[in-house]
Amino acid sequence: MIDVHCHLENEDYNKDRDDVIKECKKELKAVITSCANPKNYNLTMDLIRKYRNFVFGAFSIHPIYIKDMTKEEKEEYFNLIRDNKDHVVAIGETGLDYYWVKEEEWREKQRELFREMIRLAKELKKPLVIHARDSYEDCIEILENEGARRVDLHMFGGRKLLSRVIENQWFISMNAIILRSKNHKKIIRDMPLDRIMLETDSPWLAPDGGRNTPLTIKKVAEKIADIKKLDFEEVWRTCGRNAVKFFNLPIEL
Ligand SMILES: [Zn+2]
Repeated sequence: MIDVHCHLENEDYNKDRDDVIKECKKELKAVITSCANPKNYNLTMDLIRKYRNFVFGAFSIHPIYIKDMTKEEKEEYFNLIRDNKDHVVAIGETGLDYYWVKEEEWREKQRELFREMIRLAKELKKPLVIHARDSYEDCIEILENEGARRVDLHMFGGRKLLSRVIENQWFISMNAIILRSKNHKKIIRDMPLDRIMLETDSPWLAPDGGRNTPLTIKKVAEKIADIKKLDFEEVWRTCGRNAVKFFNLPIEL
């Protein structure tokens, strides 16, 4: 009952953000919104304060924004995160995106920023939420080399590398992509339930098109139950417990 990865600060919610959150509150225990761009920092912090112990925040710089950031802006943002670490439950989403960024020079910059984020997470004793696209091998290698322990691979699709994820005792969080992707279905089939969390990546990836909301984690849990031949209740409860533990959330289920 916790959506561990959504983007409530996204402009798609500008007209009815409070209504969406109120609806979520009726059915869910918490949501973790992922502030992936410094320009969304203030709005995200406002939500965390307004919906205390319901909206939690992960903070980072998404790898696709690497070209938009000066060194100064980056450092300022790192310090903001440091200074407000009590309101930060994770560093993320961070990682590598080779789908949108093709130039080797910029990919190298992504790897640099990724290492810095991993070190920031270690310094602040926070878990990491990882975005990887067409870059699973490099992402996992960097995480291993940096000795990252508390890791959630968001929407993980690197099936050939799943055994390394399991060996490292990392987590994956899955969204409605499992309703259509065979690859992601197989990953869920092979991943132990006590290492899976539910997410939506809202406002994206709605099960039926259009704008998504955190409420659709129910559909994700139903699909996981179906794939793993388990009761819905067991999936619902276990994934919630995993999230509380992984993010160290101050809530009771
Ligand atoms: Zn995301």
